[in-house]
This record gives sequence, C-alpha cells and structure tokens, in this order.
Amino acid sequence: MFHEDYNNSDRILVDEHEIGNGAYRSIKSLLQILIPIWKNSNSLVLQIGDIIKLKLGGDGRKEKYDTLEKVAHIFNDQLSELQENGIYDNDNIHWKIEFFFSADWKFMYIIMGLNALNLKYFCLYCDCELNNRWNMNLQWIINKNTKDQKKPVLFPVIKQENYIPDELHLLLRISDVLMECFFNDLFKKKEFEQQIKNQIEQVMKDIKIHFEFFKSKSNDIQKLWHDFYELYTILRKPFITNSEINNLKIKAKEWINLFCRPNQGQMNSPLQVHGLYKKEDVTPYMHVFSQHIPEFLEKLNEKNLSIRYFSTFSLEKKNHNQVRLFFSGTTMGGGSKEKSVVYDIMEFENRQLYYLLNDTPQKFQMQNINLNNKENKK
Ligand SMILES: [Zn+2]
Repeated sequence: MFHEDYNNSDRILVDEHEIGNGAYRSIKSLLQILIPIWKNSNSLVLQIGDIIKLKLGGDGRKEKYDTLEKVAHIFNDQLSELQENGIYDNDNIHWKIEFFFSADWKFMYIIMGLNALNLKYFCLYCDCELNNRWNMNLQWIINKNTKDQKKPVLFPVIKQENYIPDELHLLLRISDVLMECFFNDLFKKKEFEQQIKNQIEQVMKDIKIHFEFFKSKSNDIQKLWHDFYELYTILRKPFITNSEINNLKIKAKEWINLFCRPNQGQMNSPLQVHGLYKKEDVTPYMHVFSQHIPEFLEKLNEKNLSIRYFSTFSLEKKNHNQVRLFFSGTTMGGGSKEKSVVYDIMEFENRQLYYLLNDTPQKFQMQNINLNNKENKK
C-alpha cells in the first residue's frame, strides 16, 4: 500500500498534487474489479459466505508518523466503512471485510502510535518490561502496550489482534542473534584454545590430576539451532492443529530457557551444567516468538488463516521488483519524466489489472539472435 522512494525519503507516495492525478487507488473500486475475478477463478479464491480478509502492509525504514498520518487520513474513512458495512459486488452479493496489518517491527511501532525508542516498554502487544523479557514464568496475552502509547493509532479500524508479526523478520532477527552468539563463541574459543587451555591442561597433567575443559556447550548450541528451526517450521505450516500450537507454546518457552540457561552446579564438577547465553541476549523478537506467536496462531487458526500469509516476503519482493522496474533509470510509460515514480508504478499496475480482466497474455518468448550464426534457429 505504501511505497518508499528509495532515492529520496521525503518524496513519499501521497502529496496533494499526486492525489489529484489519481496516484492512489480507492480500495473500494479495486475490490469492485477484483471480486468478480476472485469469484470466477477456478481455484475458488472466494466463495459466497467468505469474509474478505485484507492485509495492509508497509515497508518504510525511514517513514515518519506525520507523513503516514496523511496517508492514513485518506484511507481511514473508507476502511471503516468497508469493515462496518462490507461491500456489494456487481451481482449484488454482499461480502464482509476484515482488515489485518503486517510489517516489520519498526514500521508497526509507527502505525500503532508507539515510540520505537522506548527501551523500557518495548513490546507492541503488552506491557512487559525490558528486564523481564527472558522471564518465561510470566504470561503475556495479546493486548495493547498501554505504557508507551504516545500518539493515536494510525488505522483505528484494525483490531489489536490483527496486527500480525511478520514471520520473515522473526526468522531473520532470531537467527541473526544465534549467528552472532555462535561466532562470538567461536572467536572466544579460539583465543582460549590458543592461549590458556593447553597450558592449564598441561599443568593439571603434571600434577597428575585428570582435567578436561568441557565440550558440552557445543551440543547444546546445536540443539538450540535445531529446536529453533523445528519450531519455525511448525509455525509456518499451512495447516496447524491446536495440539501443535499447545506444543509450540511449551517448546518456545523451553527454548528461551535453554538459550539463557545459567550455569548450574559447581564449577568443573562432573554434574555441572553449563549456561549458554546471557539473559540480556534475549531480544524483543524472542519475546514475541515465545509469548505471543502461539496466541496469534490460535486466533488465526480460528479464521482459517496461517501466519505464512503475513510474511513480508511478498512485499519485499514487490518492492524489489518495483525498484528494479522503476528506479533503474528506465522510465516506464514512454518516459514520463515529469511525473513521479509512483505515477509510473500505478500506471503499470493498472495495466496489469487490465490484462488480468481481459485475459491478455503477458508472456512473450525472448529470443537471442546470433548475427555470426547464419542458421538462426527459432
Ligand atoms: Zn509482549
């Protein structure tokens, strides 16, 4: 829905001039075009009685609240009207509509009117304090962050439970941490091995005491990676059962406990269990993963949805394609240089819609002709 001009963060999609030129599309008229297509498609995208679930999203690492407020202002009336009253298609069939929102963490903060720099109350969904983020004895349910809310939410039409965490960023941000911890360990270990380990072991050997530095940590680290991957695979399943969700609820908390397990038992005793990482290494994403994701899965399950629909992967791809198509120096639409890139994008997408409506084939065969080869084959 939103698009950021990558070259210039101040030129954002909606300004008065562009509204006049039709550089934003009415969701209602888009739906009027798309509903008949969905209804008549062979893959049964939409069946009578279905609720149309629309995901709003965004990707704006540099967006500001004030700018987005202008955008939200344009859409909000239409959104609440659609959610309250639904829509009648051209066969006079009534469809209910429900809105969802998914984006990366920082963008969600802005949309929800929160202050991204609040370190103490960091969560989008609850009042958990930062220094409690590793405490798996606490139970947090999806609610509002009531401690930090500074500004009104930008899309009041979206229910709190319909702000869905983006699973792609969840995966990336958590595996980032695992990776970082892994490399830290590796470097520490190398340094340690080069400098001290052998000396100490030699000294112990000299005084005839069997002594060996622990090797158990690496197995636990392997388990940490393995378990996280397993949990992630479950949460991304297209169909998930309630017992799988319950299992995930327990396993995710166990996973955090393993991640920041403290040292147990006496130093160098055979019974000692070595800790892995520090409690401070637990990130806000890990909090969301362990405390909120299972509840989101439950709620989505009730609506026959899966969290994988909310991955920003598709949006990242769309952005990438748009950047490639429209920012790479080639101006689409016959070189309309005086118009903004957004105008080009809209025009291109309108054309795509037209092709979709009129069954126009969009593929063509690319052929390379080698001029040196006299027998050009088709
Ligand atoms: Zn929370």
